[in-house]
Amino acid sequence: MRAVSFLGDRQATVVDRPDPVAGPGQVVIRLVRAAVCGSDLHGYRRSGAQAPDPNRTPGHEPVGVIASLGPGVTDLRVGERVLVYHRVGCGVCRPCRTGNTNICTAPRYRDWEGSDADYVRCYARYVFPIPDDLGWDDAVVISCQAGTAYAPLRRVGASAREAVVVSGLGPVGLCAVTLATAMGVEAIGLDPMPERRAIALAMGARSAFDPREEATPGAVRDLTNGGAGALLETSGAPSAHARVQEYVQTEGQVAIVGLGHTEPSMNPISLFGKQITLFASNLYPEWMLPEIIRFVQQKKVPLSKIISHRLPLEEARRAFQLADSATTGKVVFTWSG
Ligand SMILES: [Zn+2]
Ligand SMILES: [Zn+2]
Repeated sequence: MRAVSFLGDRQATVVDRPDPVAGPGQVVIRLVRAAVCGSDLHGYRRSGAQAPDPNRTPGHEPVGVIASLGPGVTDLRVGERVLVYHRVGCGVCRPCRTGNTNICTAPRYRDWEGSDADYVRCYARYVFPIPDDLGWDDAVVISCQAGTAYAPLRRVGASAREAVVVSGLGPVGLCAVTLATAMGVEAIGLDPMPERRAIALAMGARSAFDPREEATPGAVRDLTNGGAGALLETSGAPSAHARVQEYVQTEGQVAIVGLGHTEPSMNPISLFGKQITLFASNLYPEWMLPEIIRFVQQKKVPLSKIISHRLPLEEARRAFQLADSATTGKVVFTWSG
């Protein structure tokens, strides 16, 4: 099969690798879509001694069709359309035992084999069917970004009663805007880039502002009768972290979303006179995935609108250059279904 290989220092190529064979409890999936994630770019950019292993395949956002079943897999069938929860847990810690694989205390990152390839081998327990009426382009956005956006919206109890501010309008932020809108919540976007604010408005945001403007927090408070019920911080920018409290009500909630590669710097943050609830949100729990799939299907959430580029796997070099430019929406590898 063909697979992407990172050579270090922003070089991606396509190589031949042996076709995977499903072992006990595993399945092999023939890819139909595989999305490039911002987190893939960390490995893509590293060079020298830090360069990624060229024998490992990048990618963790696959959807496709089951090509073969390993011994002992009885609840899936060949030909079934599926998506994959990509974090592999230890299976024995308390989070794993409660379906919260996202916060496993000993995650088995090396057991994820990478999905920017014609086939990927996965554990059957992390494979979830895609309903017939949910298209590939919407499904491929669920597995990483939409799930990451859905979990904190659910945790703040987002409802039509209150507005949610989404700080940072990259793929996770845009998913949060469109999911919140589908939940009946008014979403207000914050991003310095006018292109991204325009996409957020097209995806249903009530309004979108440049957070660098001094008047922005006041404008948001005016729109929300004194402050939003919740804010989702997805940008990772220290300047955004430092101002979260200016956008929410006295008893509002603030989610720091998508931790993993940068430490948030919350200081200085003024909580004087407030009783804000502040929490971290890391990916989303495995048990929530069927609910997220059902929500996107039933509400017809137009997640695929965040896809800006569809390329064949041979064009991996260009795909990663585009994603690395940070000027695109989601870049997705496509095969015929
Ligand atoms: Zn991802
Ligand atoms: Zn675990």
